[in-house]
Amino acid sequence: EPAISLERVVKAYRSGSETVRAVGGVDLEIARGEFFSLLGPSGCGKTTTMRMIAGFEEPTEGVVRLSGRDVTGVPANHRDVNMVFQSYALFPHMTVAANVAFGLERKRVPKKEIRRRVGEMLELVELGHRAKHRPAQLSGGQQQRVALARALVNEPGALLLDEPLGALDLKLRQSMQVELKRIQREVGITFVYVTHDQGEALTMSDRVAVMNNGLVEQLGAPAEIYERPATRFVADFIGTSNLLSGTVGSADAAGHHRVDLGEGLTALVAELPKGISAGSDTHLTIRPEKVRIGTERPEGDLSILPGTVTETVYLGSATHYQVSLANGSEVTVYQQNSSDSALVAGRGDAVWLSWAPRHSYAL
Ligand code: ADP
Ligand code: MG
Repeated sequence: EPAISLERVVKAYRSGSETVRAVGGVDLEIARGEFFSLLGPSGCGKTTTMRMIAGFEEPTEGVVRLSGRDVTGVPANHRDVNMVFQSYALFPHMTVAANVAFGLERKRVPKKEIRRRVGEMLELVELGHRAKHRPAQLSGGQQQRVALARALVNEPGALLLDEPLGALDLKLRQSMQVELKRIQREVGITFVYVTHDQGEALTMSDRVAVMNNGLVEQLGAPAEIYERPATRFVADFIGTSNLLSGTVGSADAAGHHRVDLGEGLTALVAELPKGISAGSDTHLTIRPEKVRIGTERPEGDLSILPGTVTETVYLGSATHYQVSLANGSEVTVYQQNSSDSALVAGRGDAVWLSWAPRHSYAL
């Protein structure tokens, strides 16, 4: 059974005469040992979801299960989960080792075992040499690792992390992402990680739930979410996507669906989602790195569109082009620079854009 499951979970708050649905009906199953992320913009309901798993809030509707057991009414300290916050909440007057030992001492674990487990945890987070220091003598990243060791030493069934790296600068955050992933792999404990940073979620997670407005818009492996966004929101929120509006037309001989983009421009998509058929208005999404740019009209069963370069940004290994189409749309293209031709075209040049039908989606 899943380590954590949420069934139609709703959390509504009264605010004056209004009711705010912070979480609007979420279904999730998080497997044992999984690194699972809740990703979404500020205010989408990530923390509220986490707090219902931890037991700091009770759902208004629906059920939270831990290892299959309905935990409605079970207080936070009786749930087999632990939470790590962005503010490390370490005890400033205690040493690093004493901070990590605190929970075990309260549980009256024998002294010898405490020493062994604290030692192991500090090794795991690579702070064995800092055991006798006080939190104030450590860097932000080290303090966060102490907080992690303190949460893991109790061997919880799952660890909940709410934007734990938010207070760190970019470089430290990136090295901590690698660290966190390594630690999670070594201890094999289920991690539920909350972040508004898509890069963070995509690099660390086995699976990601993308949240918007209190709902999960898409759930899947990072590559799935990136390669095949299920909604316009996901396409917009994760990475850069081109969105082209059009109307679905008939299928071509190869079974690809034409999308009329106006001004005689036609793109092709390999499949249509449920609810979209010939005559539907749609948005076609295509990632910048899936679009080919060239000065010759390409051949083949591709979306082929003429345009004019409005901007180029040379990035060394790649070039970033802005191309405007006759229908007024702008398309962003990232192209790897090959050794012989760095710049395909410059500002004002007429170019051809093309992509395989399976790389664009109608949403
Ligand atoms: P996130 O963590 O994704 O930024 P939150 O879960 O903190 O989002 O909040 C989701 C929504 O619920 C927000 O609109 C927030 O203002 C509202 N909210 C959260 N907690 C409360 C509360 N205790 N009372 C009223 N509204 C709340
Ligand atoms: Mg939050």
